[in-house]
Amino acid sequence: MIDMTRLLIAVGILAVFTLLIGLWNWTHLRVARWRTRGRKWPIEVWNGKVTLLYFSTKDCVVCKFQQVKEIAEVRAAFPEDTLDIRKFDALERADIAKLFGVMNVPTTVVLDAQGGLHSFNANLAKSVELIEQIQGALGACKPIEKKAALRPDVTEKVVIIGSGPAGWTAAIYAARAQLEPLVFEGAGDKFMIPGGQLMWTGEVENFPGWPEGIKGPDLMVKLREQAEHWGTRIIGTDVTHIDVSTRPFKLTASDGSVLTSHTVIVATGARARWLGLENEERLARGGGGVSACATCDGPMPMFRNQVVAVIGGGDTALEEAVQLTHFASRVHVINITPDLTASKVMRERARSNAKIEFHMNTTVTDVLGDDRVEGLRVKNVVENTESTMPVKGMFVAIGHKPNTDFLKGVIELTPQGYVVATKPFRTNTSVDGIFAAGDVMDPYYRQAITSAGTGCMAALDAERWLIAQNVSE
Ligand SMILES: Cc1cc2nc3c(=O)[nH]c(=O)nc-3n(C[C@H](O)[C@H](O)[C@H](O)COP(=O)(O)OP(=O)(O)OC[C@H]3O[C@@H](n4cnc5c(N)ncnc54)[C@H](O)[C@@H]3O)c2cc1C
Repeated sequence: MIDMTRLLIAVGILAVFTLLIGLWNWTHLRVARWRTRGRKWPIEVWNGKVTLLYFSTKDCVVCKFQQVKEIAEVRAAFPEDTLDIRKFDALERADIAKLFGVMNVPTTVVLDAQGGLHSFNANLAKSVELIEQIQGALGACKPIEKKAALRPDVTEKVVIIGSGPAGWTAAIYAARAQLEPLVFEGAGDKFMIPGGQLMWTGEVENFPGWPEGIKGPDLMVKLREQAEHWGTRIIGTDVTHIDVSTRPFKLTASDGSVLTSHTVIVATGARARWLGLENEERLARGGGGVSACATCDGPMPMFRNQVVAVIGGGDTALEEAVQLTHFASRVHVINITPDLTASKVMRERARSNAKIEFHMNTTVTDVLGDDRVEGLRVKNVVENTESTMPVKGMFVAIGHKPNTDFLKGVIELTPQGYVVATKPFRTNTSVDGIFAAGDVMDPYYRQAITSAGTGCMAALDAERWLIAQNVSE
């Protein structure tokens, strides 16, 4: 009963919120139309064509995702020379953002062929809405028929599940081998969005080919674009079930659609476990010194000669703590239980390191700092006391959870849920024709480049499997 009441309240709040956004857009459009009547736009804003203006900021993860997915769909929907798409950073080009009254991102604006303001969308604007609005501004010109990603009467040769470095690399290889791969990039939730774990990462400095580093979301955008460039078809839902009792395999997606495929590459990754604190999420997403990967982020200049904290008491936590002592001046290991769960050898190595200080029976209740971590609120759970620990970085090492719930009882998994690779240095799984790549089958290395490497291997393994089975159509 209480749950029902809560549900109704939540639905009510959502409805009011949606209504307010709608009202804001409606009002804003009218005010902006009135304000901008007859205005001459600078040439970089409008050049005589129907134009989609897209406002984002560097740190907006949702914008990056939207820019890739929704804008690519809009671009594909209209003949090339009918529409201009112009992207602006709302902070760097505050002058242009001000012209339209942009107050939050992502915001999209559609100008018609006379330069008149056709539509204004604060917050998310889905490609379907944008396509409708652009069609309205274009008048007679209809969107071009989009090649359907799902082909109901065709058995796919390769379906790839997951859109991290492993999934996109597998797609690039499979597409270049003319296997017409179909990628399920995932529906996304609070902790996992299409693009995978690197969508959470500020700077990636160890992916070969980027001498000055590249932002995680930017790297994922490029990998996705490369896969699409070679003909990969993409679907924005999850795969929820694979029926391996029939050949070809039968896959069910989260929107209920069903398709068949000769081979499947599982590249669904793993999700780092977080403490679940609001400021932890904010500072992790904003690249403000909260990380779930010391190997990746520890060497960053922001942690050099600084005091940092590692949360956890297992092998990974202690390994990361020891690693961090190469860069940081001091490393606090914070562990909620009275004892460390790491192996004896790891415990001894960490305990003998003078730079590491242990805080047992302790947990973190808040992460302090606006743009950067400035300290942690820590609580001794035995004495029930709280204090502030000044640190410049927090590395959460309380484990990973592979995204394999939908594979339970389908293929062999380890007790921790990782896919078991059944042949050494191959990507085969316990089911012939299903291959796995990336963090979902690798509890050990867990890096973008190793995921990309196994993604390549899985595509080659699938290709060879199809040849051996004589599957050509
Ligand atoms: C904070 C942080 C920083 C990091 N920094 C670095 C770094 O600097 N350098 C580095 O090399 N590595 C770094 N890593 C590690 C790196 O991100 C991972 O090793 C890599 O992303 C793993 O790639 P993957 O393709 O296996 O899976 P993931 O990146 O985990 O992606 C898996 C994808 O599959 C999708 N998915 C899941 N289930 C389904 C389903 N049922 N159907 C459809 N889709 C599904 C998810 O939405 C997700 O998009 C970092 C990790 C974290 C958490």
